[in-house]
Amino acid sequence: MLKIFRASILHTPQSPFSSGKLVGFADGGLVVQGSKILALNDFKKVQNDYPSAKIIHYKNSFLIPGLVDSHVHYPQIPVIAAMGLRLLDWLEQRTLPAEAKLKDKAIAKQQAKVFLKQLARNGTTTALVFGAHFATAMEEFFKQADKSNLRITAGLVLGDRLLQPDLYTSPQKAYTESKELIEKWHNKNRLRYAITPRFSVSCSDEILAVCEKLLNEYPDVYFTTHINEQKEEIDLVKEQFKSKDYLATYEKHNLITSRSVLAHNVHPSENELKRISRANASVAHCPSSNMFIGSGLFNMLKHLEHNVKFALGSDVGGGTGFSILKEGLMSYQAQMLQEKPYPLDSSHLLYLATLAGAEVLGLDKIIGDFSNNKEADFVVIKAKQKSTLAQNLKHSNSAEDSLASIFTLAREESIKEVFVAGKSVL
Ligand SMILES: [Zn+2]
Repeated sequence: MLKIFRASILHTPQSPFSSGKLVGFADGGLVVQGSKILALNDFKKVQNDYPSAKIIHYKNSFLIPGLVDSHVHYPQIPVIAAMGLRLLDWLEQRTLPAEAKLKDKAIAKQQAKVFLKQLARNGTTTALVFGAHFATAMEEFFKQADKSNLRITAGLVLGDRLLQPDLYTSPQKAYTESKELIEKWHNKNRLRYAITPRFSVSCSDEILAVCEKLLNEYPDVYFTTHINEQKEEIDLVKEQFKSKDYLATYEKHNLITSRSVLAHNVHPSENELKRISRANASVAHCPSSNMFIGSGLFNMLKHLEHNVKFALGSDVGGGTGFSILKEGLMSYQAQMLQEKPYPLDSSHLLYLATLAGAEVLGLDKIIGDFSNNKEADFVVIKAKQKSTLAQNLKHSNSAEDSLASIFTLAREESIKEVFVAGKSVL
């Protein structure tokens, strides 16, 4: 059935980092047929063009493309807000014990359900999800992800050292379990698989070699891991691998390709940035996590200079919640705090929260903005009556202003509706 969704509509069909601009319709109409976008224009115009369409009017609301989270951990809701620890202690004392609980299938199922619901409640329609260390937990996760209708790319997390022993796998087990999960879930409906070694610290060369073997056997799966998050971690990796830098430990096994998404990259060398760019690999930029765990400020300018793709990630539970809108604000603040401030505007933030995420995940032909024929993934945002957001929006003079208010003040409570491929997922 033909539908027109009426609201203030905003999107970034081209990157504002390279001459694209915010495109907005104060009284817009998004025409949706089944799962696809047929047209976007002023409401009056599309009403004329499609007189038989059913009109869904969201009064005093904004409609933006579905948000994309390029790095978030399924087992880590219990870890959010674990204060006072830097990365390696945070992992040992709080995170790994929480992850070990997913050995229990019932807990894994329950956490998968809750996790996916929280993504949707925050307006996230697409995510690259760092999984659990247990194949049984990932089986439950993929089942629930399929039911949720969200666009999820995820994989079994692999590690065989410097974790707690109940999280260890072996090269043989890592290979067999990953293969089974790929065969069953990769490209099933909206699901895709990502080979996921935890990070070089916890992976022997044998485990990384298994990742390479799997990528060779399944050339269209994704690859994700962590890189260059904290100085102590980087030193540890260099020492373990006798390696010139962190990236080289993955490159040795041909793991850095156009389908690789590397989380953090807060402390890269110029040379690593060059090589990430040459490989056309991407970075998940997780500002709230980088500040919470004390990792540092992401150098956006350097990534732009080297033409490295990046998008926003919440990194729950290092991050402080699921809101990609909040990550946009934190990213803005991180760039204002650089020695040489790099001031972003609200169109950059929208791009980073939507189309950039789609590009990083190789989904930009399908989602990320409201171009005709893309899938109808979108979020309706409405300020609660009497909220600070509602009061602030009254003083907005432009679409850019309103969008800046949304990134600064709109959170879970302002997400009114969330659609994936034309269907509500709330
Ligand atoms: Zn992470």
